[in-house]
Amino acid sequence: EAQIVLKGVGKTFVRGLQRTTALAGVDIEIARGAFVAVVGPSGCGKSTLLRLVSGLVMPSEGSVRVAGEPVVGPRADTGIVFQKATLVDWRDILGNVLLQLEMRGIDGPEARERARTLLTAVGLGGFENRYPHELSGGMQQRAAIARGLVHQPGMLLMDEPFGALDALTREQMRLDLEALWLRERMTVFFITHSIDEAVLLADRVIVMSQRPGTVDHVFDVDLPRP
Ligand code: ADP
Ligand code: ADP
Repeated sequence: EAQIVLKGVGKTFVRGLQRTTALAGVDIEIARGAFVAVVGPSGCGKSTLLRLVSGLVMPSEGSVRVAGEPVVGPRADTGIVFQKATLVDWRDILGNVLLQLEMRGIDGPEARERARTLLTAVGLGGFENRYPHELSGGMQQRAAIARGLVHQPGMLLMDEPFGALDALTREQMRLDLEALWLRERMTVFFITHSIDEAVLLADRVIVMSQRPGTVDHVFDVDLPRP
């Protein structure tokens, strides 16, 4: 069934006399467990779309529903990863991932085990006790993905998760992300400015328009999956 449903969604930012329409008349339906990419030129409204789904921003028009409920704020069943990893520098990598659970009152050996398993899955096995500043940008981003998934969200939202990384690291992270998706089967909704990356990874691609704020095209990619 549908996990994410947007109907007639519009978003206009108003600052003084300046109005910017970031989205207009967007209708999108995304099935549970889908792997969806959003592509489009800078400023076309990709981040706004993701922020609406994440509950960080409210629509000016239309409705945004996740798992059948109207989105009224950040949801517990959602994991978010931004372009730049936002790790706290006073905790090691494991501590950063665990923080996500602690904020939800989850603690104990099982939680630690899941955090370790995810860190290994993103290629950070053995680095659990390093601090963010001791790691490369790519490794920090990997940790952010582990943190985004540790509370077993049904949905993972990512805003240009690989945008700041070099080609080789991107390639490896794509593979890791795909493996994680196959294992966890969460709905993945991610932004990229690379059509290649979208087609490589996603089974559904949403193409936003040159005309700001509108969706041009939604197509399904036929990907052989294990
Ligand atoms: P993209 O992610 O595709 O680059 P955004 O969603 O960030 O696009 O932005 C779409 C449009 O909305 C742009 O014109 C941007 O400047 C504007 N915008 C985004 N966020 C805000 C905001 N908080 N206040 C005002 N304008 C905004
Ligand atoms: P990106 O395109 O990589 O998502 P942006 O520069 O569009 O990055 O947006 C970064 C932040 O600035 C976001 O929080 C967005 O909402 C905000 N923002 C973008 N455009 C504007 C704007 N014109 N006025 C105010 N805030 C903005």
